Amino acid sequence: MADWKNPPRLFIPGPVKVNDDVLQQLARPTLGHRDKEYGVLHGEVADMLKKLLFTNQYIFLSTSSGSGLWEASIRNCVHPDETVLATCCGAFSDKWADVVKECGRKVDLLKVEWGKPTLPEQIDAKLSAGKYAAITLIYNETSTGLMNPIYDIAKMMKAKHPNVLVFVDAVSGMIGQPIHFDELGWDVAFASVQKAFALPPGFTVAAVSKRAVEKAKSVPGRGYYFDFIQWAKAAEKNQTLVTPSIPHIMGLHYQCTKFLNEGIENVWARHKKMADFCRGWAKSKGFELFCDEKYASNTLTTIKNTRGINVGDVIKAVKAKHNTIFSAGYGDLKDKTFRIAHMGDITLEEVQELCGWIDAEIGG
Ligand SMILES: *Cc1c(COP(=O)(O)O)cnc(C)c1O
Repeated sequence: MADWKNPPRLFIPGPVKVNDDVLQQLARPTLGHRDKEYGVLHGEVADMLKKLLFTNQYIFLSTSSGSGLWEASIRNCVHPDETVLATCCGAFSDKWADVVKECGRKVDLLKVEWGKPTLPEQIDAKLSAGKYAAITLIYNETSTGLMNPIYDIAKMMKAKHPNVLVFVDAVSGMIGQPIHFDELGWDVAFASVQKAFALPPGFTVAAVSKRAVEKAKSVPGRGYYFDFIQWAKAAEKNQTLVTPSIPHIMGLHYQCTKFLNEGIENVWARHKKMADFCRGWAKSKGFELFCDEKYASNTLTTIKNTRGINVGDVIKAVKAKHNTIFSAGYGDLKDKTFRIAHMGDITLEEVQELCGWIDAEIGG
């Protein structure tokens, strides 16, 4: 029987492996969430996140998974009679478009083929032809291993559509790939911590612009738990609206300190190096990459199964021999691709070791 107390090492694109020293941080004695000690912890974490994300605006700490922010961004920042342009390039961005609808807002889709990026000119054409309050954009589409050209998109948005709000799912990109939040002109960007932050799941970090909070003031039906106005008031006091998952915030403090000591540019470079290795390995073994290399993610690599290996069998064999797992393709891509995550505290040496184990199964 599967032993949850001796789980496999995770090279899946979330949750990722959490190191023991990090886990220990989540076992610290708890604090009172309205006490001074908590305020110090919260303030230090928020300040570090501001540095890591290059922002002087709001940092919100949400005791929820990342998907909560899909909903929060819409319910806080889009009036019931406004329309959102949802850019869709894979399973997660598609799902967000559904969520917009489920929040009762009108949504138009800009769909591209899975594995292809969403380009600035495509967004510009859509926005120029209609009236939109906001766009949803995914930084790193985890179902396909695609990284969208966010800096090019930001340049276009600032030049041509400066009044359209920009909400970004950065769940599997944040920390592993650059985000200069203020320079990008984004309004909401969020990531759950079980991806490149390399913490256990159940918590989300968000950067939110002042104009997004300002807009929320006029939006009815924001609800309670995810209300940006209440969140902003609490954040100004280094608190959260409700009792947060304080263990996660302690873990975040540890991880953010580590990223700043390493230097965030070095953290990004470390992820790029693992991605370069993984892409090179795949190509040298006769596979192709699922995405054009220019748009391939630095936090996970999606490999096209051009050799026709039995993906499920290889995953099973590596698990049986090494108690380590990687991922099959997502949804319809199940046997057509496989995915190796290389983010957070996963090291280059570990990725090399895993690829060696895969080699042993597929015959080099
Ligand atoms: C993992 C993931 C999500 C879902 O995050 P949860 O924390 O499970 O809600 C959303 N978007 C992307 C891009 C992801 O990789």
